[in-house]
Amino acid sequence: MANEKRQGFETAAIHAGQVVDPTTLSRGVPIFRTSSFVFKSAEHAANLFALKEFGNIYTRLGNPTNAVLEDRITALEGGAASVTAASGTAAIFNTIVTIARVGDEIVSASNLYGGTYTLFDAILPDLGIATKFVDVKDPQNFEKAITPKTRLLFVETIGNPVLDVADIAAISKIAKKHKLPLVVDATFTTPYLLKSIELGADIVVNSLTKWIGGHGTAIGGVVTDAGTFDWSDPKFALFTQPDKNYHGLRWGIDLPPEMRKIAFALRNRTVPLRNIGACLSPDNAWIFLQGLETLNLRLARHSENALAVAEHLQKHPKAAWVRYPGLKGDPSHPVAERLLKKGYGGMVVFGVKGGRSAGEKFIESLGLFSHLANVGDAKSLALHPASTSHSQLSEEQQKEAGLTPDLVRLSIGLESVEDIVGDLDQALAKV
Ligand SMILES: *Cc1c(COP(=O)(O)O)cnc(C)c1O
Repeated sequence: MANEKRQGFETAAIHAGQVVDPTTLSRGVPIFRTSSFVFKSAEHAANLFALKEFGNIYTRLGNPTNAVLEDRITALEGGAASVTAASGTAAIFNTIVTIARVGDEIVSASNLYGGTYTLFDAILPDLGIATKFVDVKDPQNFEKAITPKTRLLFVETIGNPVLDVADIAAISKIAKKHKLPLVVDATFTTPYLLKSIELGADIVVNSLTKWIGGHGTAIGGVVTDAGTFDWSDPKFALFTQPDKNYHGLRWGIDLPPEMRKIAFALRNRTVPLRNIGACLSPDNAWIFLQGLETLNLRLARHSENALAVAEHLQKHPKAAWVRYPGLKGDPSHPVAERLLKKGYGGMVVFGVKGGRSAGEKFIESLGLFSHLANVGDAKSLALHPASTSHSQLSEEQQKEAGLTPDLVRLSIGLESVEDIVGDLDQALAKV
């Protein structure tokens, strides 16, 4: 691992986590399509279950193909351990319930992916975990919302839907001051564009479904433990009280120091992953490993194409406004310029003059762009969030999230930029 950390990003994206299988000498990462693994002896079986020895038991808990992906993401994020899940959504849910329980609170940025907003706004409260939503634009808002019941802070690196960039360094200072873990959803940046852990994140979640996979062919998620958070504070009852999910273990206290460091990742794997059960299939892990190999090349081009589109739309008479963190003059540009060193990502949002009906006409007139609810595909994609992904939100909540009825969300693909711009122009001409 020490060696891998010294590798460049591009090298680690291709090699980290894989040891060529000594039996088959397969250069590609093999897909281990098996539900379960044979124990060498009764003692071996007992040691695996008691966490005295790491190894494979059952694919819901871990699989060697998934392990290569987990170790590779750990290397790219600069963390200590990662756990894959069936989706980004499952990774987020498992992260919250690893840390917070009934009676606890979380403080979250309000500019969230629609599914995450619903999880925090409707599902967690039913489980007794309350969410305080704050405007990410002023990091002080997080501090104001913290109470003795707060167990974590949550932000997206670039938030939905208007692409505000979170000042992770500033929010992390507040988290550290209050001895709370900062959880960052890095899906819109991936570890290539932004180093969440270097900026102070304790836990990083990525939806693998988006740019990491990069081809819109599989659903998956992963969470990375930076290995730096101290869970021994009594307010983290799930880490300091005997855990009835695991033989009364106190994760933040009883484990040897090397394992205590990754207590979050261990509890995430052995409690919610194991017993709620949303695991990643090894086939999908393999697909994400293919995507990772070219992540740097693709994100550089996504960012280049998106900047060209944003600059073009800025001059377009039918665009009411454009938001892209890479545009000089964008409200998020000062933070983006400081944090995003390798590009500003593949997402552009804008308002079509004429409001909601003009926006709908525009989306229906697109040819090259696909009208669908995904982002981060090699193909260019478009969506009208107010009537789709964020339609669960009330008008008030939409307004709070900065979602206006005219907003069109573009995920800029890897096609020739002339074709991308040409398709936008012909569709705008029909409005
Ligand atoms: C897509 C997405 C998710 C959810 O991931 P799934 O893999 O679709 O479950 C979470 N956060 C962000 C920012 C996303 O874009």
